[in-house]
Amino acid sequence: MKAAICYEINKPLVIEDGVTVAPPGRGQVKVRVAFTAVCHSDLHFLTGEILSPLPGLAGHETSGYIDEVGEDVTGLKEGDTVVVGTVTSGCGRCYYCTIGKPHNCVERHAFMAPKHKNKKGVPLALMAGPVGGFVEYTTVPQELVTRIPEDMPLDRACLLSCGVSSGFGAVVNRAKVPAMSSVAVVGTGGVGLNSIQGAVFSGAYPVIAVDVLDSKLKTAKTFGATHTVNAQKEKDPVKAVRDMTSGRGADYVFVTVGKVEAIRMGFSMCGDMGMTVVVGLAGGNMAAFEPMEFVFTEKILTGCGGGSLRTSVDIPFLVSLYKAGKLKLDELISGHYPLERINDAVESLKKGDALRNIITF
Ligand SMILES: [Zn+2]
Ligand SMILES: [Zn+2]
Repeated sequence: MKAAICYEINKPLVIEDGVTVAPPGRGQVKVRVAFTAVCHSDLHFLTGEILSPLPGLAGHETSGYIDEVGEDVTGLKEGDTVVVGTVTSGCGRCYYCTIGKPHNCVERHAFMAPKHKNKKGVPLALMAGPVGGFVEYTTVPQELVTRIPEDMPLDRACLLSCGVSSGFGAVVNRAKVPAMSSVAVVGTGGVGLNSIQGAVFSGAYPVIAVDVLDSKLKTAKTFGATHTVNAQKEKDPVKAVRDMTSGRGADYVFVTVGKVEAIRMGFSMCGDMGMTVVVGLAGGNMAAFEPMEFVFTEKILTGCGGGSLRTSVDIPFLVSLYKAGKLKLDELISGHYPLERINDAVESLKKGDALRNIITF
């Protein structure tokens, strides 16, 4: 089978035939990959901003068909249409699963053992999560797989495994934004647009899109942003957000850009008693905060990984929202690329041209 392998950071991925994958063991399934979207989290690994052993296999926003089920797999059978992502449905027994937070299941870190080998038999490390989606077949624990209705288009469905759910879930699951709150979303790419969709769904107003590109802000308006701030052109973007929120600052701020400067700015845009949620991965650098910024303001700075997803509930819900015309997915797709052209898809995302590029198998 073919895969796009990362042998060196910042070098084109190598399309290699003759790759093998382990058959599904106990509790695992083998999936025939139909589509995998390229996410900024993949870029963080492919560019070495976040380090991973090499050679490696990235890709984690995947949809496809169950090809084979291992022992003790329940609720999945050959031929099922599925979404495969990084968020676990949980073991159902640990502390976090028991309190209804299965995305934080204590067993979630156990899924990173390599399943693929290159044509020379060298194991391929999993990059950007436990999926290994830039390949024709992958084997994963059943906890990473969610069955979806057969009539859901699979190239739309793959977006639900990370980009859409990370943005939407940060608003709806993590912050639980109440109606009539004000929301600012810093970074309106493939994740931020979905925080905007989540804010609109939650009944927030205003919904302020903050970005440095006018083209992205224009798109943000089509996803429901009521106000926009160009953080590069605006002399004081923090004041601009405060002016739009009765001088208070936004009640909820979602930072979907993986940059500490954006986190710092987003926190300043947040009003007293408000919550700033860090959604984008920002490896390495440090951001500075004064303790007094927290004490009397009671501001909360927190994070959200993968939309705090309860996969078995949230992914089918997002599918039904899409089918009802209440969730935009078609508009998130910038292009389809066959596996052979994956490097073009990666480059276009790097340049900021694309929301989501989808690799087709
Ligand atoms: Zn992702
Ligand atoms: Zn658990």
